[in-house]
Amino acid sequence: MILVLIPDTRTESSEYKQLMAHLANFPNISTRIHSEIGAEHTLTEVYLIGNTNALSIEEMRSLPCVDRVVRISEDYRVLGRHKNDDRPTHFDYNGVRFGQDTLNVFAGLCAVDTLEHVEAMMKTLRGLGQSCTRMGAYKPRTSPYSFQGHGKNCLPYVFDLAGKYDIKVIAMEITHESHLEEIREALHQTGGATGVMLQIGTRNTQNFELLKIVGRQQEFPVLIKRGFGITLDESLNAAEYLASEGNRKVIFALRGMKTNMGDPHRNFVDFAHVPVVKRLTRMPVCIDPSHSVGTRACSPDGIFDVMHVTAQGVIAGANMVLVDFHPAPCKALVDGPQAMLFKELPYFLEDVQIAREAYLQRVTLTEQYKVANPE
Ligand code: PEP
Ligand code: MN
Repeated sequence: MILVLIPDTRTESSEYKQLMAHLANFPNISTRIHSEIGAEHTLTEVYLIGNTNALSIEEMRSLPCVDRVVRISEDYRVLGRHKNDDRPTHFDYNGVRFGQDTLNVFAGLCAVDTLEHVEAMMKTLRGLGQSCTRMGAYKPRTSPYSFQGHGKNCLPYVFDLAGKYDIKVIAMEITHESHLEEIREALHQTGGATGVMLQIGTRNTQNFELLKIVGRQQEFPVLIKRGFGITLDESLNAAEYLASEGNRKVIFALRGMKTNMGDPHRNFVDFAHVPVVKRLTRMPVCIDPSHSVGTRACSPDGIFDVMHVTAQGVIAGANMVLVDFHPAPCKALVDGPQAMLFKELPYFLEDVQIAREAYLQRVTLTEQYKVANPE
C-alpha cells in the first residue's frame, strides 16, 4: 500500500510525526519513504511493506498528511500501474520531458571512436533540432580482444562537445560502479555541460548489485534494456530494483530477443510489447531498432528494416528511439553493419514523424469511438 502525502509535507511537522508514530503500531508492517524534490513541490510517498490486506483505504486516507492511498496488488510496486493509481507517468531531466505521452529520438554513435566523429554527429543533430544522443564509452563486448570503448578518456571531449552543440541528454551505458563516478567527475570538470542517462545493457539487466548502485542515486535517469534471454516479467522486476532503491526516473528499452527464430535479424524484434509495458507500468518505453535488426538490409519497397521496425514501435506508442548512426559504418569499431549514415538522419526523422502522427491519430480515433460507443 502507498500513502501519497499532501505535497510539501515536512518531515519535521508534528502531523508527519503523528502519522509515522501511528504506522509504527501496525504489527509486521514496515515503512519505506520516498521523496521526490521537484522544481515547485516536494512529493513524499510512504510505502507500507508487509501484509496490508486488513488495512482499510478510508482509514488510511483519514490519517494526518495523507492525500491519497493506492493499494498495490501486483508486482512492480513502485513502477507498476495499480488500480486508481494516478501517479505520474513522466519525469523531467535537464530540461527534457520523458513520458508515456512524449517521443524523444536518441540518434548517435554506438561507440565513441574519434573526437571528429563525435563532433560531426552532434553538429548534425543540432542542425536538425535534436537535443538527445547516444554515445557509448564503456562497451561490453563478446570477445575480450574487441575494442572495449575509450572509457573515461573520451568523456571530457564528449561532454564539452555536447555543451557546444546544446545536446541536453546523452544515453551512455555503464557496466561498473566506477563508471558512475567517472561520469560524475567528467561532468563536474566540464561544468555540467550536458546531462547523462545511464544505460543498463541487456547483458546486465539482472546484475542486481549494479542495479542497486544505479538505483541508489537520483542524479541521473536510467535506461534499462530488456534482458535478451529472460521473460518480460523478469526484466520489469529488474527495472523495479532501480525504483525500489529510490530512482524512479526509469525508461524501459525493448531491443529484441536472442533466438535464431528472428533470423536473418540479429534479434527477434519485440516491439509488440510497447503497449504491454505501458499498460503494466508507468515507465516510458524506448525501442532500439539497431540492436534488434542488426543490418542495413532493405525490403523491396526500398525502406531499411531498421526504419520499418522503428515505425512499428512508434505507431504502437513508443516514447524513445535509441538508434545507431555513423559517418562511415565500414570504419566503425562497434556495430558498423547496423548503423545508418549521417546523411540519412533527416530522412529517418521524417519517417519517425509520420509514424508518430499516425499513432496520435489512432489515439484520437479510439477516443471518438469510445465516446460514440460507451460500455
Ligand atoms: C548498446 O545499446 O550499445 C548495446 C550494447 O545494447 P544492448 O545492451 O541492447 O545489446
Ligand atoms: Mn552496439
